[in-house]
Amino acid sequence: MAGLQRRALLGAAGLLTVGLPLGLVPQAAAAAGSPFEAADLEHARALRERGLADRTAPSLVRELCEGIGARPAGSPEEAKARAWALQVLAALGLENVRAETFPLRIWQRGPAAARLTAPAARPLVMAALGNSVATPAGGLDAEVAWYPSLAALQAEAADPARSQANGRIVFIDERTPRTRDGRGYGNAVLARINGPVEAARRGAVALALRSIGTSGQPVAHTGATRYDLSVPRIPAFAVSVPDAEFIAARHAAGETLKMHLDLQARSGVDATSANVIAEWRGTDLAHEIVLISAHLDTWDVGQGAEDNGAGVAIASAAAALIASGGRRARRTIRLVLFGNEENGFDGALNYGNRYKDVPHQLVGESDFGAGRLYAVRSRVAPAALPVIDAMAEVLAPLGITQPESGRNQGNPAPDASVLMRRHRWPAIALSQDGSRYFDVHHTANDTLETLDTSGLPQNAAAWAVTAWLAAQSPVTFGPPPL
Ligand code: ZN
Ligand code: ZN
Repeated sequence: MAGLQRRALLGAAGLLTVGLPLGLVPQAAAAAGSPFEAADLEHARALRERGLADRTAPSLVRELCEGIGARPAGSPEEAKARAWALQVLAALGLENVRAETFPLRIWQRGPAAARLTAPAARPLVMAALGNSVATPAGGLDAEVAWYPSLAALQAEAADPARSQANGRIVFIDERTPRTRDGRGYGNAVLARINGPVEAARRGAVALALRSIGTSGQPVAHTGATRYDLSVPRIPAFAVSVPDAEFIAARHAAGETLKMHLDLQARSGVDATSANVIAEWRGTDLAHEIVLISAHLDTWDVGQGAEDNGAGVAIASAAAALIASGGRRARRTIRLVLFGNEENGFDGALNYGNRYKDVPHQLVGESDFGAGRLYAVRSRVAPAALPVIDAMAEVLAPLGITQPESGRNQGNPAPDASVLMRRHRWPAIALSQDGSRYFDVHHTANDTLETLDTSGLPQNAAAWAVTAWLAAQSPVTFGPPPL
């Protein structure tokens, strides 16, 4: 008899063992060479197989994108998304479903436009970077100082008197290479984050950059930038890749480029956001938490399909699979849909403050679109590594492997990373194929129409397996090496 059925029957009627020869009395049998009991592994495999056939995740991402669309932190749309999530998660059988609110200050985009005025008039497809200050009323006009990369700008002295940036609009032409693991973005995005400060240190009046992303479409990428109080805050925006190509070609031809920029935006607006939480209660270690997550907020462009509707659907479907599987694990499995990941991590910070004294067995997050998973890495105490190996064996039929190097140096998605580092909570990172993620990320093209949902069930299956086995583990995962 299968271990799972055996346990269920015993639970329903312990009388089944009456009359059996002593040697046949069912016992909790450890699987050979595994830290888990055979029945636990069997339950995890069953979650995996049901997950692969389950269509919950594709239908959730459709509801979120078509029903609500973009849901920037602190907006009425984010509140609508929370109401939707609360209703959906309760209907999926999860427990203790609630929203935990927090105040925050948000940035709001206003009307914005940019155009080349020399050597030829050309309107630019552009997007203000998140947190950008506004231009003076009526906009500003300046010559363009072109740099091939952030490093090239930084190579100039941080002194307006000795920089060609002085009095100009700095244009950084940083390219984003296409990579499976996102490291191309990881390098290029520094131009978006640090560009305005580096340009202002050299006397620039504004910062423009090639969109951080791999799309060749006439669409512009947004995302957070930051300021440093020691230098003037200058307006910052990205232009589409075709526009960046045009600018690079005119610059290479030795022509002088001039630009007009008119950008409106508001910062520091008081608002409210919240984390949505749902649980599947544990048994003897119910006070310990296995946290799987995604973020509910998006930028204000597109529908937030890849970022992070897909993750919301994956993590929610995984939690629902666990609940519908019926079997409780030792620890409580907690789904968190964070508010405001995109511009300040308020949700993760608020969660960490609220639960800092609660033991966390694991934090994990799905925030890299809908691509298939291919690797699992951990960040756990060495004593827990055999448990991760056993987990990886159950994940292997999904095409997910443990890399040769860095297997215990996993970097989870941003909210989980914040929690792992601030609270020294153990983590699992499941790596998705992100080869196409940056074609739409943070752009108006991040819509349901461009989303390939075929990998969502594999993701949900893997997170269900990971969370349930972590919750059932005979070994504590922490403290991790950081
Ligand atoms: Zn994200
Ligand atoms: Zn994002």
